[in-house]
Amino acid sequence: MPIRTRRTFLRRTAVGSSLVCSLGADLLRAQTRPRARYDLLIRGGRVVDPSQAISAERDVAISGHTIARLAPNIPETEARQVLDARGRIVTPGLIDIHVHVYDGVAPLGIPADPNCIAKGVTTAVDAGSAGAHTFPGLRKYVINVVDTRVYALLNISVVGQSTVSLDNPHGELLDLRYANPKLAIRTIERNRDVILGVKVRLTRNIAGDRDLEALKLAREASDAVQLPLMVHIGGTYSPLPLILGMLKKGDVVTHSFRGAPGGILDDRGRILKEVRKAVADGVHLDVGHGAGSFSFDTAEKALAQELLPGTISSDVHQFNVNGPVFDLATTLSKFLHLGMTLEQVVERAATNPANTFGFPKGLGTLREGAEADVAVFSLNQGRFEFVDSLRQKRVGTQKLVPVATVKAGKIYGSASIPVVTG
Ligand SMILES: [Zn+2]
Repeated sequence: MPIRTRRTFLRRTAVGSSLVCSLGADLLRAQTRPRARYDLLIRGGRVVDPSQAISAERDVAISGHTIARLAPNIPETEARQVLDARGRIVTPGLIDIHVHVYDGVAPLGIPADPNCIAKGVTTAVDAGSAGAHTFPGLRKYVINVVDTRVYALLNISVVGQSTVSLDNPHGELLDLRYANPKLAIRTIERNRDVILGVKVRLTRNIAGDRDLEALKLAREASDAVQLPLMVHIGGTYSPLPLILGMLKKGDVVTHSFRGAPGGILDDRGRILKEVRKAVADGVHLDVGHGAGSFSFDTAEKALAQELLPGTISSDVHQFNVNGPVFDLATTLSKFLHLGMTLEQVVERAATNPANTFGFPKGLGTLREGAEADVAVFSLNQGRFEFVDSLRQKRVGTQKLVPVATVKAGKIYGSASIPVVTG
C-alpha cells in the first residue's frame, strides 16, 4: 500500500477558507448536510477518462480519498461540497513523468507544488535530478513534504544533476567514475516505494564521447533492480540506433521529438527504422519537452508518419518554466494544435504514464475505487501562440488552462489560484 504509507509522510493541508473564497461562490459551494453520502461532488463537467473510454458529461463523487461514483446527474444534495465544473474539462489527475523539482540543489530545480499540483498534475516523476549521494535530500526535503505526489528516477551519476547550470555546462557523466551502479542499486533498494527507475543523460556535454559506456553502467543498475531505464537522447556522440540497441521492453526514451542531431528522423525527415523497431519491442517514446528538446517540425513529421508519443511529459524546470514550456497543460495544448484529440492527449498524460512506471494502482483513472485525483481545466478557444525549444512558433486555436486540482479528495488551486499551504 505505498500510497497510504507515503501519505503519512505528507503534510496534510485542509482546504482553507481563503481558497474557498478565491475559487468563487459560483465554482465551489459548501453544503450544510452533515450526513451527506459524499464529501465532494464535481458536477456537470465533460469527463475525459481514456482508461474507461469515457468522454461525456459526468459527475464525479468523492468520499474520503477515493472516487465513490462516476455517473450522470448525481444529486447535489448528496454531497457536502460541490465543485461546479459545467463548461469545463474534467480528467484524472495528470501524471507528468519528467519534471525537475529538486529546488535548491539541482540548479534547474523548481518548487513542485506551484508547478505541478497547482497545474493539474497530481503525480510527478523527478527524472534524475538526484543521484545516490543527493537522493536522501530529495526524499527528505521534497518527496516527504510537498503536496504533489512526487516519485523519482535515480540518476546513475552519484551527483545527479547538481553540476549543470547555464554558467557551468558540464554534465554529471564527464567523469564516469561518478557513475556508480553499486551505489545506485543500494539507494534504490532502500527507497523502492518512491524510486521507479534509473535515469541516464547522454548528450555530449553531459557524457562526452563515452555515452555507450555510461548507458552500460545505467543498464547494469536498471537490470539489477528490475526497474525501467529512462534515457535522455539528443546531441550524442554515438548515433541513436546504437543507443536504442541497448534498450529493453519497458524502457523510456525521453526528448523523442527533439530536432537533429541525434533525433528520431533521418536527414530526409523519415522515421529511423531502429526507432520503429524499438517501439515495436516495447520501448516507450516520451516527449520531455524541456528547454532544448521539442521541435514542432520533428513532431509534425513524426505524426504525419503515424508515430505518436506514448507519453507526453513537460520536463519543466528552471530554464523553461517561464517559456517555452510553462507547464504540462501548455505542452498538451501544443499536441492539440498538432492534430491530436483531447482524448489522445489525456491518454498520454494520465492513462499511459500510469502504466509506464510501477506506481501504486489507482492513479491516472477516475474508476470508482481509484485514488480521488482529479484535474479540472478550461479548454479556451481563441488564437494562441505556441513556441517550441527551437523558438519555432505555431498558432493554435485551443488552450487547456488549469482551473482546479483535487488530490486524494482535497482541493488545491490552479495557475491563478494559490496553493493552500501550512
Ligand atoms: Zn530533464
